[in-house]
Amino acid sequence: MELLYKSTRGGQAGVSASRAILQGLACDGGLFVPERIPSLDRSLEEFSAMSYQETAYEVMKLFFTDFTEEELRSCIRSAYDEKFDTDVIAPLAKADKAYYLELFHGATIAFKDMALSILPHLMTTAARKNQIGNEIVILTATSGDTGKAALSGFADVPGTKIIVFYPKDGVSPIQEKQMVTQKGDNTLVVGIRGNFDDAQSGVKAIFADKALEQKLAQAGFQFSSANSINIGRLVPQIVYYVYAYAKLLESGELSAGEKLNVVVPTGNFGNILAAYYAKQMGLPVGRLICASNENRVLYDFFRTGVYDRNRPFILTTSPSMDILISSNLERLLYQLAEEDAGKDVELMNALAEKGEYRITEAMKERLADFSGYYATEEETAETIAGMYDDTGYVLDPHTAVAACAFRKYRAETADETKTLIVSTASPYKFTRSVMEAVDEQKCGGLTDFELIDELSAMSGTEVPKAIEEIRTAAVRHTTVCEVCDMKKTVLGFLGMK
Ligand SMILES: *Cc1c(COP(=O)(O)O)cnc(C)c1O
Repeated sequence: MELLYKSTRGGQAGVSASRAILQGLACDGGLFVPERIPSLDRSLEEFSAMSYQETAYEVMKLFFTDFTEEELRSCIRSAYDEKFDTDVIAPLAKADKAYYLELFHGATIAFKDMALSILPHLMTTAARKNQIGNEIVILTATSGDTGKAALSGFADVPGTKIIVFYPKDGVSPIQEKQMVTQKGDNTLVVGIRGNFDDAQSGVKAIFADKALEQKLAQAGFQFSSANSINIGRLVPQIVYYVYAYAKLLESGELSAGEKLNVVVPTGNFGNILAAYYAKQMGLPVGRLICASNENRVLYDFFRTGVYDRNRPFILTTSPSMDILISSNLERLLYQLAEEDAGKDVELMNALAEKGEYRITEAMKERLADFSGYYATEEETAETIAGMYDDTGYVLDPHTAVAACAFRKYRAETADETKTLIVSTASPYKFTRSVMEAVDEQKCGGLTDFELIDELSAMSGTEVPKAIEEIRTAAVRHTTVCEVCDMKKTVLGFLGMK
């Protein structure tokens, strides 16, 4: 049966999966959600015998119903291949009473690879299915991680180009090096003289420029977005929850039907929403524990029912979670309001105008599956050091936020349900913060690459290929522009004026 998509704001419905992927955001500014959440149609025992790729097919076929089996399998094959440094794609590690689901074995050693490896293939297949002859041009503003993951997903994918804008002085040296060494003739990386918000607003202005859209269409191009509100990023994230549960079942860590709690280090709310979808599909997930850093908007929301972004933006050692507007939360709100688009519009308008909204008591009751916890910067560092001292396992700061949230949850509730902690980045991606947490004194005067070697020696793990490569890679992108020249830069790259 075909599954169609509709907007959380009520202005668009009956949209096929492939159209929703191409479009990204709905016409009315809402997010696409499936008309219903499908149920898993394989037993967990069947799943436990499957590879990551087979699991991906069985989950995605339920959502992307207008893709043929061959199309989907081909997208999956192209995405989850040798770019990952392990055949199992998403391995599990057991440490200190929890299972860590390592989602950092892809090309950029962070979890965004799980979805951004497949999105380009879903998009180009979707374009073909809808007889779109235009080349797809992805525009992205990044504060570091998303840009690199999108670049590496789209690099050399026929029928696409990708342009990434980042704040010239606003990303870490390793993040910048990762981006400016990006290969692929269809890629362009541009530093802008401004901050992340300037880059983001610049990209939004280009997307909203109707005259530009027409001009591009005449030249055979159309813009699209790879950001985390795209349904083509959300659905691939459901896969690893099913996979992790099935593998724990296979290894005897879980017994059939046993509940598994999930802790997710959260920013834009995409990853944890995927876990919630998995639960609604029939996966025996217990509580969903949302872990925040000092930007604890979501923690406050789960406790009070009030979402309030009016607060200082704090820069932390877990930068991918430094977010005050969690855009994917809109999909959850829509469900909590029992699909009342009017309510969703009211709340989103309040957020836009006053920076704040309060959900109703009935909506709050439906939040019962979720708990929110947060970790301060000090607690995050203590968690990294404590875990290393006790077990030798090294956590990145994002995962450490989740590990700390788990400890607080257990202490507060005495809930002994087995627990999966989602590990979203390799410690090698945030080496300085990790090494400072473990041994502050050792770090003085050392460069980032020297620290990487220290981390390797200390943890007895190999430096990932993604890091080794950039140590010596040639810089390929040197474009820097003013915010007001972003449009000109885009046109120049496309060979237009
Ligand atoms: C993006 C990101 C997150 C947050 O994920 P969301 O889906 O936005 O909640 C957490 N950790 C890392 C390392 C990330 O890159």
